[in-house]
Amino acid sequence: MADVKGVEATYIDFTRKTAKYPKRREKEYLMIGLMNEAGEVGGAFKKEIRDHVDNTDLIIDEMGDVLWYLTRLCDVYGLKISDLMLNNIDKLFQRMTPEEAKVWRAENGGY
Ligand SMILES: [Mg+2]
Repeated sequence: MADVKGVEATYIDFTRKTAKYPKRREKEYLMIGLMNEAGEVGGAFKKEIRDHVDNTDLIIDEMGDVLWYLTRLCDVYGLKISDLMLNNIDKLFQRMTPEEAKVWRAENGGY
C-alpha cells in the first residue's frame, strides 16, 4: 500500500510550488478555481450523455484539478485533505444514531 501520509505531504508541497496567482487574492482565486474545476467535472460527464462517449479519463483528470484547488484551500485554512476527511466523518456521524456510529467505528479502525 502506498505511503498515504508521505503522498499527502508531497502533494501539499507540490501545490505550493505550482501555485501561480496573486497571493493577496489567494482565497478568492482558489474559491473560483474550485468552482470552475467542479464545473469541468460536470461538463465532462454531461458530454458523456450528449455524445454517447466514455469520458472517464477526462473526468478523472478534472477531479485531480478539483483536488489541487481543494488542497490549496485546505492549506490556506491550515488543514490537510485527511483532516477534511475526518471532519466530514464526524459531521456525518451526527446523522447516525449513536448505535450506528458505534458499529461503524468498530468496523473501521476506531475513526
Ligand atoms: Mg480542469
